[in-house]
Amino acid sequence: MKALDELTFDNRFARLGDAFSTHVLPEPLDEPRLVVASSAAMALLDLDPAVAETPVFAELFSGHKLWAEAEPRAMVYSGHQFGGYTPQLGDGRGLLLGEVYNAAGEHWDLHLKGAGMTPYSRMGDGRAVLRSSIREFLASEALHALGIPSSRALCVVGSSTPVWREKQERGAMVLRLAHSHIRFGHFEYFYYTKKPEQQAELAEHVLNLHYPECREQPEPYLAMFREIVERNAEMIAKWQAYGFCHGVMNTDNMSILGITFDFGPFAFLDDFDAHFICNHSDHEGRYSFSNQVPIGQWNLSALAQALTPFISVDALKEALGLYLPLYQAHYLDLMRRRLGLTTAEEDDQKLVERLLKLMQNSGVDYTLFFRRLGDEPAALAVARLRDDFVGLAGFDAWAELYKARVARDGDYSEVQRRERMHAVNPLYILRNYLAQNAIAAAESGDYSEVRRLHEVLSKPFEEQPGMEQYAQRPPDWGKHLEISCSS
Ligand code: AMP
Ligand code: MG
Repeated sequence: MKALDELTFDNRFARLGDAFSTHVLPEPLDEPRLVVASSAAMALLDLDPAVAETPVFAELFSGHKLWAEAEPRAMVYSGHQFGGYTPQLGDGRGLLLGEVYNAAGEHWDLHLKGAGMTPYSRMGDGRAVLRSSIREFLASEALHALGIPSSRALCVVGSSTPVWREKQERGAMVLRLAHSHIRFGHFEYFYYTKKPEQQAELAEHVLNLHYPECREQPEPYLAMFREIVERNAEMIAKWQAYGFCHGVMNTDNMSILGITFDFGPFAFLDDFDAHFICNHSDHEGRYSFSNQVPIGQWNLSALAQALTPFISVDALKEALGLYLPLYQAHYLDLMRRRLGLTTAEEDDQKLVERLLKLMQNSGVDYTLFFRRLGDEPAALAVARLRDDFVGLAGFDAWAELYKARVARDGDYSEVQRRERMHAVNPLYILRNYLAQNAIAAAESGDYSEVRRLHEVLSKPFEEQPGMEQYAQRPPDWGKHLEISCSS
């Protein structure tokens, strides 16, 4: 276990130099106070969880103090936003403080979001508000607990600094952890600004640090791109299987590591709705729930374009062709498990599609449906869930197919079935209304609800006594909350 001043830095990205990032010091927030910390994320840095409560912790993660070895940098990148190319984006309000490595030799980027203005702030104020910082914190840690690859969050520090959005709010910072903060948009930036040397340097950096095994392949860059395609297919399959809607899948928000990155107006589905749009400003539904799958491929093609100096177009196309089949295989595998199936049959895909179609028109809670399906033997569970559906005849027909399929799958005890299903079907999910309740309390100075919610979501598959209220469908007011893009 380490104390805060014992972190060891190795700032590999900073060493790439000024073509890639600019030195900027964080601008401190007034009267910093710890809102919430993740002991699991602290463990990634070998930090003793007790240090979160020391005043220096809040000072470090609100820009008041800095390690001598930190080299805070704002990274430059660009990206396709809602389908159109924006030539320059970059860290407008976040800083890569440095890279820390732990006892196991893993490197973690320390990125402080909300740290003030940078050369890339454009029209923005460089700040993040408490509300959006809490949302990013809760989502990162909750996705990780569900087994969905994601950036992590160490803590949120609040303050008394006023920040203007639709109304006056308070500034906060979230400390984000990831093995890399390099986005698709980094490659796009050097490609479109026609800087082949820097682009090659960037590609070498990513290959050496994050995909070293691809070095062994005859075409290392192609192997790396393939791996990025595979990881994205798997990540998006998990989003779809668990009902996660990212909301702003711009290429500047896509990580080259295939992890969920940059949380804005995200949401988990309450009622199942394939066409759900969580981003209030996404008028055309470009990033609707079901569109996430083709958009994943679209984003990978944008990255492929930026990699044309290194890889032949034919090879890139072939690698892109892997995306959909891989996505489908991962998705079907997860959905089979969510249905309690251990074997594969040809018609399983249809069984899943039929179920989702029935859910679409019924207002069925997506998370609780699967949890309850595992509570009891299949026949009893479907009989109880039946009332939630509008088209009873349709559901009955599906239930017959499902029961027959379960019978063919194997002869499991009730206990085995429940354990297996509950291990993949969460009871607790980060519902927008739960986040909203925690935010409202935090905005009035009470952080206990954020902390409790974070705790509950860190064990989403485990029934936690006394926490029943976190496993409910949303109340009417919480059903269709509009989450704005402002953050
Ligand atoms: P996002 O929509 O959060 O992914 O941000 C898109 C771009 O806008 C990135 O370059 C951000 O750094 C920048 N940005 C977002 N909010 C702010 C802000 N309040 N101040 C400065 N830059 C911002
Ligand atoms: Mg972003």
